[in-house]
Amino acid sequence: MFAGTMMGFPLTINHLLERGRALFPEAEVVSRGPDKRVRCQSYEETYARAERLARALGRLGVKTGDRVATLSWNHAQHLECYLGVPAMGAVVHTLNIRLHPSELAYIANHARDVAIVVDRTLLPLLEKFRGALETVKHVIVVRDDGGPVAAPDLDYEALLAAETVAPHAPGFTPPAGPFSELPDENAAAMICYTSGTTGHPKGVAYSHRSTVLHAMAGSMRDSIGVSGDDVILPVVPMFHAAAWGFPYMAALNGAKLVFPGPHLDAESLLDLMASERVTIAAGVPTIWNGILARLDAEPKRWDLSAMRTMIIGGAAAPKSMIAAFEERHGLVVTHAWGMTETNPLGTLALVRPKIRARGGVAALEARASQGLPVPFVETRHVDDAGRVLPWDAATMGELEVRGPWVAKSYMSDEGADRFTSDGWFKTGDIVTIDADGYVRITDRSKDVIKSGGEWISSVALENALMAHPAILEAAVFAGRHDKWGERPIAAIVYKPGKTATNDELAAHLGEQFPKYWLPDLYVAIEQVPRNSTGKFLKTKLRDTYGDALLTKGSGG
Ligand code: ADP
Repeated sequence: MFAGTMMGFPLTINHLLERGRALFPEAEVVSRGPDKRVRCQSYEETYARAERLARALGRLGVKTGDRVATLSWNHAQHLECYLGVPAMGAVVHTLNIRLHPSELAYIANHARDVAIVVDRTLLPLLEKFRGALETVKHVIVVRDDGGPVAAPDLDYEALLAAETVAPHAPGFTPPAGPFSELPDENAAAMICYTSGTTGHPKGVAYSHRSTVLHAMAGSMRDSIGVSGDDVILPVVPMFHAAAWGFPYMAALNGAKLVFPGPHLDAESLLDLMASERVTIAAGVPTIWNGILARLDAEPKRWDLSAMRTMIIGGAAAPKSMIAAFEERHGLVVTHAWGMTETNPLGTLALVRPKIRARGGVAALEARASQGLPVPFVETRHVDDAGRVLPWDAATMGELEVRGPWVAKSYMSDEGADRFTSDGWFKTGDIVTIDADGYVRITDRSKDVIKSGGEWISSVALENALMAHPAILEAAVFAGRHDKWGERPIAAIVYKPGKTATNDELAAHLGEQFPKYWLPDLYVAIEQVPRNSTGKFLKTKLRDTYGDALLTKGSGG
């Protein structure tokens, strides 16, 4: 090799922290607490507080590579952990507050967390699994509701107040202290566990390098696009896949961050978007569904003129929702796909010039797809035998990805079969890819309905049903069937006061799908069961209704 002559300067979160202090100390971090009061601190204060936190953790015995857990909503203290813990060489481990206490205990023990930073309002949750924790030595309480902290727990603010930080001269070099030694760029910075729909939750350790590259790719204009002019509201929890990397994208660019705290209802979010003049907000479709309904009910109430784009991901954003935001409220949705295992940004539904030039519905179709891989993520899809499939918009296969922020293993041997011998990660998503490279998820591999020899996309049926005027939500899943193996069943949540007959629904779907795709059964339900990350829990629907077709003995 004729080696390049350039520096191997490490890609670390430390640089994000230093850059913020050196170049945009005045940029703001806004947090709304449980009492809905809004507090503001600058990047400079965030740096100083992250340094105090790192010093305090060091004093408590936290060393390089040690895991420090968080059990917190989105707020400035959580950001201080996101920045300060990795920059001191330790690893921040975000615990998902929506998991079952027994799962949380498993995860904290598996990661060997030595300390937990917990919101006081979440202490009741911690109490449910605290007794089962094997390695945690310190519980550090963020007094988000202002209440007292009982010994032996430690008060986050008191810990920070007990440390002294010397004033820093302008510039990039940190003085002696917890951030003066750069971690290796391949060292772990953050640990996230997948929600584990099968088997144990599995840990993924994002490295400094993957986190930084992910933040850079997300910041690009032909990506999410983040600049110092932006005001970012991550509705997506910081305990879920690094809040999609937004805290790091903001830190890299000096964008203002707005953290919503625990109030995630549509009205509270809309209030915050309007009052803080948010330009980018990000969350799962359920959140946006609620917001769309509120905007439809009171279209003039909130001034969202600053909003540039709303990033929707984590589950499929229905085309009807994307169109409704734009047509009725002039708001642009950017649909994104990703996974815990991909740091998490994988694909983004941007409209390339050639697509726009085609006119008609081409642009909306592209925006409703899961999109194009972001730079440095590569995509392919394969059949059951692992053969790579054509990009023909029709052939369904399992999506595989690779790239600098895609996991190459889990933190244990479990799930090893998801990593191919030629270096790709098997996503478990069934997709088509078109000639332009747009990925369309037709299903999770475990949810695709295998009727006779044909595959039926539950997601396509759900999206079509959710475009029906009487339907709020629909979940389509496989019912066991004597003759065909599986046939689709649709569970429907109607809008208040509305309903439709089976014949009307079949006629509605019949306009778009072949006859064999139409559900054999429609059941009206109160609400769709969901897992801890807000995704439809179809296993539960299958448990309840999965045998309904067998007893009916229908021939499909
Ligand atoms: P888990 O896989 O443990 O449920 P993740 O949060 O990592 O947790 O979820 C990743 C999965 O979420 C993807 O594999 C995909 O099935 C789904 N998903 C994420 N974004 C989208 C999207 N835009 N459209 C459809 N499905 C999505």
